[in-house]
Amino acid sequence: MNRDHANLCILGAGLTGLSAAYHLGDRDYFMLEKAVRVGGNCRTEEKSGFHFDAAGHIFYPKTDYVKELVTRLLGENRIEADRQAWIYSHRTYTRYPFQANLYGLPADVIKECLLGLHDAHVREAREGSVEPAHFLDFIYRTFGDGIAKHFMIPFNNKHWRVPLDQLNLEWMGKFVPRPTFAQVLDGSLKPAEKCIGQNATFMYPKRGGIQAVCDSFLPHIRPPELNAEITGIDLKKRTLEINHGRTIGYEKVVSTLPLPVLVRCLKDLPTDIAEAAAKLRWNSLYIVNIAVDTPSLTERHRVYVPDADLVFHKLAFYSAYAPLMAPPNQCAASAEVGYSVESPQDRGTIEERVITGLRRMDILKPEHRILFTHVMDMPFAYAVYDEHRAPASGYLREFFARHDVHCRGRYAEWEYQNMEKNILTGQRVAEEFRPSAG
Ligand SMILES: Cc1cc2nc3c(=O)[nH]c(=O)nc-3n(C[C@H](O)[C@H](O)[C@H](O)COP(=O)(O)OP(=O)(O)OC[C@H]3O[C@@H](n4cnc5c(N)ncnc54)[C@H](O)[C@@H]3O)c2cc1C
Repeated sequence: MNRDHANLCILGAGLTGLSAAYHLGDRDYFMLEKAVRVGGNCRTEEKSGFHFDAAGHIFYPKTDYVKELVTRLLGENRIEADRQAWIYSHRTYTRYPFQANLYGLPADVIKECLLGLHDAHVREAREGSVEPAHFLDFIYRTFGDGIAKHFMIPFNNKHWRVPLDQLNLEWMGKFVPRPTFAQVLDGSLKPAEKCIGQNATFMYPKRGGIQAVCDSFLPHIRPPELNAEITGIDLKKRTLEINHGRTIGYEKVVSTLPLPVLVRCLKDLPTDIAEAAAKLRWNSLYIVNIAVDTPSLTERHRVYVPDADLVFHKLAFYSAYAPLMAPPNQCAASAEVGYSVESPQDRGTIEERVITGLRRMDILKPEHRILFTHVMDMPFAYAVYDEHRAPASGYLREFFARHDVHCRGRYAEWEYQNMEKNILTGQRVAEEFRPSAG
């Protein structure tokens, strides 16, 4: 239903927007989404019976509220599994995280990693606990030279695509597990039976990929208007321009659009806003999807690949997550290839380079027939956590908030958020911006 005015407009029907709509219940709101389907970066594309997430996603809620909500929304369309996350390096597989699972690596690599960790501990005892200057410094101080060389630096170079000494530590939280020396030693002497870390078990839809989590909100919300790209915003007149044509008026906006996109929509761009926006940096991903005519490529869900000679840094094997991700006896997988303004990728050769890499790893064997490949582009993947991120994004969000445009969600708040956080943010939006009943 098209409208020309709304008390509350929600921009974007990714998980944050969907959760906001769900929690607003029967209140008056209007949601606009540029794509043909909801889900944003938690979407799944279907091609000839194969399902590919926009980068491998797993759902690992920690709060009872979110766990119960999604369990109820998905109903029987749900599986729970122990995460099979591995690392491929030195022609072998070790469990994730690298630093806690050295067992299986060549002896000289294990020795280098343990000696490096030992030296890092000696240095800490000598110098006292020093606040690392940046992420690269953190890596050396926390893990030592060996773990830095064999995993932390090459993997993060490929993942971030920006120099690691330009990253601060604000994003890390629980994302970089820090095992004790005894745990590292244990992990080098015997194989771990399962993954450790904050998302060792996860929930995933039985059918439909991660998209099914987003779609499960749809029966409970007003249908968003799809194919409706916000192309302009006039803060003085309080109007939104849609698809370079129609305008609608609003009282308040909750925007889940990436901050740089929202800034680009501004009709009058103040100089200070343009300057703050120019300071935001981010990285992007090509997700190279592969359909293969074989019942299974591996039982691993995720493989992290630090090797600088292999173009991808992460692999996802969807058929191992949920067999219905591909037609019977065939499988769906994807490779993530990072790029950024300062470190671009040649898009033209990306599929070929991924296939070459998978063959080198012996994941694709000579007898495997590739049915098709398909590339998804994720222009906004990770906000780069440099010295400008917090002040510049805070400045922009405050500017918009003064004009009743409130930025919420991973790319609107310009921070490292996961699906659980998006759902909780949507719940908070409903509490903050509850307009009158519709
Ligand atoms: C590589 C990768 C892997 C991840 N893996 C996990 C994981 O395993 N588990 C987990 O919990 N989280 C994971 N995440 C995080 C998760 O993807 C995000 O938290 C989530 O997608 C953010 O949702 P959002 O609604 O805030 O933003 P988005 O999903 O970006 O939604 C914004 C919406 O706005 C729309 N939009 C954009 N511009 C316009 C416009 N001009 N007009 C109208 N609409 C517009 C977009 O189409 C989109 O639908 C991962 C993220 C990445 C990048």
